[in-house]
Amino acid sequence: MITYEVTCRFCQQPFLLVEGTAKYMRYKKNRAEKFSCDDCDRRIEADSRKYLFDRD
Ligand SMILES: [Zn+2]
Repeated sequence: MITYEVTCRFCQQPFLLVEGTAKYMRYKKNRAEKFSCDDCDRRIEADSRKYLFDRD
């Protein structure tokens, strides 16, 4: 299994991109792209969902 270690753009913690995942594919196409770790992805998703519900 191929992995790349990158730094999360939000929490600045290193995490692994695993071969076959969507982020890995994006990394292969554009290594300059900054990625967020799964923890931050979940937090952002939860925050945006909260934002959607809090609107109105
Ligand atoms: Zn993170």
